[in-house]
Formats: sequence, C-alpha cells, structure tokens
Amino acid sequence: MEIILHKHKEGSLLRQHPWLFSGAIHSGTENCKEGEIVTVLTHKGSFLGKGHYQQGTIAVRILSFKEDEAINQAFWDTKIREAVELREKCGLFDSKNSICRLVHGEGDTLPGLIIDWFNGVAVIQCHSIGMYQNKKEISLALQHYFKDKLLAVYSKSEATLPTHISTENEYLYGKVAVPHLAHEYGHAFHINWETGQKTGFFVDQRENRALLAKYSKGKKVLNTFCYSGGFSITALAAGASLVHSLDSSKKAIELTEENVALNKLTKNHSSIVADAMPFFKELSTDYDVIIIDPPAFAKNRTARHKAVQGYKRLNAFAISQIKKGGIIFTFSCSQVIDKQLFTNTIIAAGIESGRSIRILEQLHQPADHPINAFHPEGEYLKGLVIEVN
Ligand code: SAH
Repeated sequence: MEIILHKHKEGSLLRQHPWLFSGAIHSGTENCKEGEIVTVLTHKGSFLGKGHYQQGTIAVRILSFKEDEAINQAFWDTKIREAVELREKCGLFDSKNSICRLVHGEGDTLPGLIIDWFNGVAVIQCHSIGMYQNKKEISLALQHYFKDKLLAVYSKSEATLPTHISTENEYLYGKVAVPHLAHEYGHAFHINWETGQKTGFFVDQRENRALLAKYSKGKKVLNTFCYSGGFSITALAAGASLVHSLDSSKKAIELTEENVALNKLTKNHSSIVADAMPFFKELSTDYDVIIIDPPAFAKNRTARHKAVQGYKRLNAFAISQIKKGGIIFTFSCSQVIDKQLFTNTIIAAGIESGRSIRILEQLHQPADHPINAFHPEGEYLKGLVIEVN
C-alpha cells in the first residue's frame, strides 16, 4: 500500500523523524489494514519511508528510510544484531550484569518495540499493532543472534496495545520458570515478567541505583516507590545503617523483601505498604537519604499541569522533612515533563519548603535507552540529586 502526503508535509520525514501524523496524509489509507507495512510518498510521488500503519494520531511508524530495504526476516535479523552490538559496546554484557534493555523503540530505529533482557530471557513489549504482528519474526531474529544463549522469548503486550486488538501474553520461544534470577552490577534479582509491572523490572534506573552506593554508607535511607527494591539493595550493599522501602503495592513490597533476602541484606531493612504522599506528611525517622521515583504522573500534555503539582507537593514534603545536609534522589519518568520543567518544579518545592537546596547531580536514562537525535521525544527519564540545608 502507498500513502501520499499533502504538499509541504514531508519535512519531518526528510529529517528522519520516525512518526507520520495522520494530518499530513492526503490519500491512500482507505484500504490499509492496521499493522501492515506501507510506503509513504510525497505529493509528487517521491519515496520518503516505509513503516507500520495504524489508525490514530501516529498513522505510520517508519522502519526504514531506504527505498531498497525490504522489511523481511533479514531486516529484523540486522536490527536485532545492531541493537545487541550497541549494548555490548556500552559494556553491558559483563560478568556482573545480566540485565539490560535490548531494544528501546525509536532509539533503536524500531518504533513501537521494547525488548528487555533478563539473563537469557527476552521480554518483548509492543506499543504498535505492526510490531505485535511482526513478533514471530522478532523472536526468530533473537534466536538467530543468541542461538543457545537464548532461553525464552516472552511477549507481553496486553496492556500496551489498543483494546480493539486481541492480544495474548505468551512465550514465543522456550519457557523459563518465574521468578528468574538475573544480576545488576552483581546484585541478584528475582524477575517475574508474567505477573510483574511492565516487563518485570525497571531497567532504566540501573546507573542511578549504582550512583546511590556513593551516598549510602552509614546512612538512614528511605526508598519510596521502591517496586522490586533496586535502590534499597544498592544502599544496603553499600553499608546503609537502615533502609526503609515503601510502595503502595503489597506485591511490590513482597518482591522487595524477596530480593533483599536473596542478597542476604535483611539485617538493616524493613518495608512499608503505604501511599507515599500521606506517609511523607508525617515522617517519624530523620532520614539522611530519600529516593523518590514515582510512576509517570502525566501520560500526555493535558495532564502536565496536574502532574507538576503532584511532583512539587511530593518533593516539598520530602525536602521539608529530611535531616539537615540530607540527600534526595528525585525522578520523573513523564515524557511530557522535560528536564527544565522538572528542575524548576524541584526548585519551587525547595522555595515552598523554606529550605535551601543545591543540585549535586543531574541524572537521566542510561545508554541502553538511547535517544534518537531525530526523535527528541524519546527522552523521558530525568532526575536530580539534591542536598538540603
Ligand atoms: N524505583 C523502582 C521503580 C518504581 S516504579 C525501581 O528502582 O525498580 C513506580 C512504583 O510506584 C510502583 O512499584 C508502584 O506500585 C508505586 N506506586 C504508585 N503509586 C504510589 C503511591 N501513591 N505511593 C507509593 N507507591 C506508589
């Protein structure tokens, strides 16, 4: 199928932005099936790119800007090989680490596709119908590259695709008992992609968790929004005198406790099932270090203002309660809240709390979550390490 654009609507594709918005289309979508590969042409008929068609604001997610590149098994094989080679180049497959993001959507020129790697198991999460329909080829490409190092491929897209598509979470290759053991910088984690949130683990905080080690020795640490306890384990292993892990999900706290025990770090640890906001209002311990890593408060622009208020309130509580000289690791993973807005929000929280704050470190997503320079929307995780006086 061929899609023709309106006049003057080819600019973003010429700049290799991988999304074609529906408003740019003149004709050709009448008989397009969702998920099929379409070719996009200028109004004069010149080739622009080819990609997955889908009804909605983003009508085509471009897979290739090359006219002579076929989207076949060899294409998927090449893309997976290139993605893995990047992670190898970044030193992510060393003996201490068996967890990384293998494919990060647009950052790997594969819009709509996420693959996380957990010690031999690839968990695929599709954010477009086309990727979902190509999942068998993607799984095969993983088998071609990893050969006997690949234990299983699990497809988990029930929650990430439009509801009119019937989807099933399933093993596409092999099967592994969950929870499955994997390591991040030598720390052990039990990962359960079948029942866990997202792909089973928040891979994107790896480097920020590692950084926490420097600030934790002998300290009292509060890890809020802890999920499976990554920050807690790093702090305990680095010699924190006490770590409290908090999450509103009982299941998340069970995961944290399981992982803390797995690393034989239970001595100075305890956990709390609670909503972070009311908990912050009445802190009874004088913490030296607080981690605030909430889920995305804003999923789109209309929710942005409310989200900013949410981040501000949460951080203002933490800033006003923490010990003098205390350290806060604070994050936002809302894509629509950019670095500057996030920093301004934290500064506003500082002003509101009446205390002085200093920014010590500016944090972001790691190299296995690359940002395609032609798709700045791919930048989503930002954080600050602040000192409070
Ligand atoms: N820091 C974690 C990832 C956090 S994901 C890591 O390193 O792995 C966000 C977590 O926030 C989820 O586990 C979710 O259950 C929890 N959560 C969501 N709303 C919450 C609330 N109001 N109070 C406390 N926890 C909450």
